[in-house]
Amino acid sequence: MISTLRALERIQRIDLEIKAVEDEERRLVNTIQELSLEIKAGAVALAVVEADSEALKTQIKELGEKITESTERASKDEKRLNSVKNDRELNALTKEINGANKSKKLGEQEKNALQAKCDEKDALINAKLEALKTREEELKRLSAELEASRSGWKESIEAKLKSKDEIKSSVAPAILRKYELIRSKRNGVGLALVKDEICQGCFTHIPPQVYIMLKRGTDEELQSCPHCHRLLHVEENGQLEAV
Ligand SMILES: [Zn+2]
Repeated sequence: MISTLRALERIQRIDLEIKAVEDEERRLVNTIQELSLEIKAGAVALAVVEADSEALKTQIKELGEKITESTERASKDEKRLNSVKNDRELNALTKEINGANKSKKLGEQEKNALQAKCDEKDALINAKLEALKTREEELKRLSAELEASRSGWKESIEAKLKSKDEIKSSVAPAILRKYELIRSKRNGVGLALVKDEICQGCFTHIPPQVYIMLKRGTDEELQSCPHCHRLLHVEENGQLEAV
């Protein structure tokens, strides 16, 4: 039979090992969830830019048709120039040609401006597609990693819980309950080491009389930290080592 404190030290070590495995799994699961959300948001943002680009392309196409129309009108009018009968007709025709040419020029300017905007959107679409692809590959990689690790983690935790169960019998149920209660409330640490009269669980000074009792290492009366209430133990305790 090992001493209560020695058993608690082992239990605490096992619990921290289990917590480390659980934390690793939780971290990976969280990363995967965050990545999935990023991918969803990325796809929505991509759809918005794609719709913008489509709208611009429709506008460009319509402008193109208007430009063709103006060009045709101007060239048709130019052909008619040879058959004008008087100055009045010439003036009217010239005015029409100028109007058609002006409308063509304005249309081309507007089309070029829209095309530049559209090119920007298309570059953005490509960048977003690339980013999405990278994230999707990363998600695939991490999901495979999670899948591959899960059974190993589960086995490891089960083995650790089994060794914890074996040691549990060395600790009185009331003390074990106290340890488990503190552990659940104090970030997985129910038993804290005291170094130079400082509790390593909360890093506050413990009273000298508590430290003396700890050094004496009496198993009957376990010491608690007055600040964080964790059960306490000290390193290199001669009495403990001898048990
Ligand atoms: Zn403390």
